Amino acid sequence: MSIDDKVAALIRPEVRALKAYHVPDAAGLIKLDAMENPYGWPEELKPAWLEALRGVALNRYPDPAARALKQRLHASLGVPRGAELLLGNGSDELIQIIALALARPGAVVLAPTPTFVMYQLIAAAAGMRFVGVPLKNDFSLDLPAMRAAINQHRPAVVFLAYPNNPTGNLFAPEDVEAIVAAAPGVVVVDEAYHAFAEASFVDRLARHDNLLVLRTLSKQGLAGLRLGVLAGAPAWLAEFDKVRLPYNINSLTQASAAFALQHWPAFERQARDIRAGREALYAALIRLPGIEAWPSRANFILFRTRERPAVEVYQALVAAGILIKNLDGAGAALRDCLRVTVGTGAENRAFLDALARVLRPTT
Ligand code: PMP
Repeated sequence: MSIDDKVAALIRPEVRALKAYHVPDAAGLIKLDAMENPYGWPEELKPAWLEALRGVALNRYPDPAARALKQRLHASLGVPRGAELLLGNGSDELIQIIALALARPGAVVLAPTPTFVMYQLIAAAAGMRFVGVPLKNDFSLDLPAMRAAINQHRPAVVFLAYPNNPTGNLFAPEDVEAIVAAAPGVVVVDEAYHAFAEASFVDRLARHDNLLVLRTLSKQGLAGLRLGVLAGAPAWLAEFDKVRLPYNINSLTQASAAFALQHWPAFERQARDIRAGREALYAALIRLPGIEAWPSRANFILFRTRERPAVEVYQALVAAGILIKNLDGAGAALRDCLRVTVGTGAENRAFLDALARVLRPTT
């Protein structure tokens, strides 16, 4: 038996059918593809942070429950009394933990599409069936279609990215409420971009026992730490906790994130600058010829190149030293669409200048 035959015989077909999450090489490029915060840690915080790390005992396993960090997060996230937290190695891991715990044979993951691709990828890897319900043309939720799909497929979990990635919009809160009310399973409101949306479902956790709110520190300057937070009723979290690997939050992350939370105003200032940068970037984008851009409540902007294939524009930008995300090929709704992350003022200008040059008609 050749190795290919062995692989075909042993690896689950739904896993073989997957495409691994692709991360392009950004070496030497201005990196505006992954919704990272473009600012490093404020210089004045670094000595005290390094001092905090000096005390971490790397010969020991981390605190498996990350108690000190959880306490700080509980307070800073404004989680209502009665709700608890579960921490993940990025919110990606929490999505995976939820899927693993709910993956009975035939169980369904439902989400509006287009949305964050990991919901579908993780569903497949966990052996669940993914049902995508198309958003309306303006990227708002199609509530009748969502209700019909929920009734038909009885999903174990519904994921709603709030704001949505890659479209950048916030769904109408009353539509989200209606889905929480209609869903027979849990509804995860994924607030990865909360810092830029300034809207949240956290304070509604007390009202709905099937609502879970997902957050991450990734978009606020701590992507390298890998820390996601799931807030919800202890009855759910206690079960999810059983499929979490015991030491999933490493000691350096626990210490660094706790330190960062103590100095949170500095990170909030960065988020405020990014929100201002987003508005300036959007205003400039919609003035460019042949560009249709969607208003965003996140730290990225989705836009369509109406007069040139998006792939060409994407490649020309890479050649000009700028990496954004090409979404053409990710379904009809995103035809000729590209997504740019809000960078520093200088990065945004470099991107806009390069895009203007790429779009200029060659006569
Ligand atoms: N949810 C959404 C909606 C996202 O866009 C992302 C990152 N692209 C994540 C979750 C995952 O973030 P992380 O694993 O870094 O916490």
